[in-house]
Amino acid sequence: MDKVYNHAEFENEIYSLWEKSGAFTPKIDKKKKPFTIIMPPPNANDPLHIGHARFVAIEDVLVRYHRMKGEPTLWLPGSDHAGIETQYVFEKRLREQGKSRFDFDRDTLYKMIWDYVSDNTGLMETQLKKLGASCDWSRFKFTLDPKIVKIVYKTFKKLYDNDLIYRGERIVNYCPRCGTAFSQLEVNYIERDDNLYFINYGSLTIATTRPETIFADVAIAVNPNDKKNKSLIGRSAKIPLVDREIPIIADTLVDPSFGTGALKVTPGHDATDFEIGKKHKLQLISVIDAGGKMTNTPKKYIGLKAEVARIEVVKDLESKGLLVKTQKLHHTVGTCYRDKGLIEPTVSKQWFLKVKPLVAESLKAVQKGDVGFATKRYEKIARHWYKNLKDWNISRQIVWGIRIPAWRCNKCLEWTITDGSTPKECSSCKHNILSQDTDTFDTWFSSGQWPFATLQASNVGDFEYFYPTSVMETAYDILPFWVIRMIMLGLFTTGKVPFRRVLIHGLVRDKEGIKISKSKGNVINPIEMADKYGADALRMGLIWGALVENDSSLSEENIRGQRNFSNKIWNIARFVYQEKAKNKGSYKKAPASKNADDKKIIKDLKTTIKIVSKSLDKFRLNEGAEILYDFFWNKFANNYLEKTKNRREESQKVLEYTLQESLKLLHPFMPFVTEKVWQLEKERFDSPLLITSSWPGASSK
Ligand SMILES: [Zn+2]
Ligand SMILES: [Zn+2]
Repeated sequence: MDKVYNHAEFENEIYSLWEKSGAFTPKIDKKKKPFTIIMPPPNANDPLHIGHARFVAIEDVLVRYHRMKGEPTLWLPGSDHAGIETQYVFEKRLREQGKSRFDFDRDTLYKMIWDYVSDNTGLMETQLKKLGASCDWSRFKFTLDPKIVKIVYKTFKKLYDNDLIYRGERIVNYCPRCGTAFSQLEVNYIERDDNLYFINYGSLTIATTRPETIFADVAIAVNPNDKKNKSLIGRSAKIPLVDREIPIIADTLVDPSFGTGALKVTPGHDATDFEIGKKHKLQLISVIDAGGKMTNTPKKYIGLKAEVARIEVVKDLESKGLLVKTQKLHHTVGTCYRDKGLIEPTVSKQWFLKVKPLVAESLKAVQKGDVGFATKRYEKIARHWYKNLKDWNISRQIVWGIRIPAWRCNKCLEWTITDGSTPKECSSCKHNILSQDTDTFDTWFSSGQWPFATLQASNVGDFEYFYPTSVMETAYDILPFWVIRMIMLGLFTTGKVPFRRVLIHGLVRDKEGIKISKSKGNVINPIEMADKYGADALRMGLIWGALVENDSSLSEENIRGQRNFSNKIWNIARFVYQEKAKNKGSYKKAPASKNADDKKIIKDLKTTIKIVSKSLDKFRLNEGAEILYDFFWNKFANNYLEKTKNRREESQKVLEYTLQESLKLLHPFMPFVTEKVWQLEKERFDSPLLITSSWPGASSK
């Protein structure tokens, strides 16, 4: 053995050894209870960041531990098409080439993004392997696999048939020049100066930057805590030029310090007003059409472009003495990323999922403990989200995703919903010309079905055996988007919770406690660190010092420090291997000895086994790692080893036995170095592969 452990020389070789051995693929054994984790699928087109590395470290520790305990263990990997984010990144690349999405038809664009993602997805897999992820690659799933898509369609149809899907109105970021709605990510917010017009509404004055929309006003709102305007609540105001009367209502969303403190409520053309309108069940009026031209206004403005109409309306207000004053306003407006023109918030029809019945079932399951949160405070947060969840808008105006299986009749305009197949005729009037909705599902709608969809799309019998899964381990920030929706859709579709336990992990921060992000310039690249110090050192650094549920702090020094531990393991093995093997075959139990030092180390080992196992059962990974480190480095290496130097031969059996059991305990945390050490002299131990050896004390429970 070399003096120093050289991780770069061994890691790939060890990983292929595991892969070829079939250790990652569980054997279904109906007499045994399986242990299953469905991996939160990383974005298919992105390299892994340090947050991913944390989940890999945590989940792989659990998976290796349970595998060694003899449970049929499945860790199912996958990747996510990440709808909006991916399409956005792809379009940015197109722009760099002087092109845009509008240069291609839908199918071509989809195919181009598909190829782009396929080119990159291999990178993520290589990186997961690099970190030692012992997941079952034979069951790998992509969120757009045809089998997965089919299941997503089926769920949608079932929801629709159960009256849980409806068409509702929502305000979208619409560009009248491009003729399409954009996602929040695609809207460029810029600061600029505009005129703020103060207009006489009879009983009060209103300030607005958009006088052309006054014809779409349906109310005036003031903040109930606004002393100067409070007395107006319940009275009415008059829209100038048309003299239509509208009520004055109270809403806390109104900013009393803006303008006069009174807001004209225009639900058809403003996102906040839309919210207020929904809350107060106000009417919705649209005065700007899809082409950006005026409609539903007094005749003279109809057909004018909105910008032109604004000038005309201001002129008319002025001539009637209804324009009180004009001020400059410095504010933020949304602009189109393509043509830089103004985004026009527009109401459009979208697919919504009624969440109330699904939430009720989910809360019941949490209450009964069918699905338990490893950390109580996250359960509280989940409950909070459930209680405040609004109906879920599941349609997105992008092509990169699963297209909604809804067809509209060209004659009666009714919708026909299928489980994916193109309908031959309209389900309402039997007319045979229909066109499919161009929208795709929100990514979270399909990934919300991930635990059961992945298993149903895998081998025959997988779903029946591995579902409900054991643990859902994921990041704190997607608790509301993902975890609570998986419970809702899992319960609805399968009648069972998708997982028994939820383990939420905190953020990775730098050594000053600052969140790691590109914009802060404190990025720690996990692959670079693994290359430099070994995957084991990185994993240990990510586990060390903080409970899974808390934020952890990481620095290159931490990781470098853990590399010393890899070397320590290597060196202890070298020492043990100096003496010829004493007990070829195995150590099924501790060798008998009358020596006090031998007895002490075996006793300490037993205590360590107990504590580490308990820590892993309770997801207290860092506590297990820290106890183990102390046992191995201090009790075993520094203390016991020194004392054996003058009775080396006599102590060899205990040395070999303690090393064997320590390697097993260390394996989930530092899989590469422990397996390499094991492989070098595996005839000394009780299994040909460490990864599939049995956990200390597992059989004698
Ligand atoms: Zn545009
Ligand atoms: Zn029809």
